[in-house]
Amino acid sequence: MVPLCAARVADLRVGTFVSLTCRSCGHVAELSAMTLRERLSRNAFVKHLGPEFRCTACGNKGANVDARHALGYHG
Ligand SMILES: [Zn+2]
Repeated sequence: MVPLCAARVADLRVGTFVSLTCRSCGHVAELSAMTLRERLSRNAFVKHLGPEFRCTACGNKGANVDARHALGYHG
């Protein structure tokens, strides 16, 4: 299992979801690992993705990323 701090987009498991919580309004979105792998560089660090996302609810950039499930962590 890849440590969260070293995980890259390529490590996200197909069929799982990554939770993104907007830092401005708290809107929660779930993006599939497939979508992220298609849109982002496979070598991008998961921990660096947060600032890249724009909220669909308020339009502000920046989200907290929870990729634990997509990386195989449970609980
Ligand atoms: Zn928002």
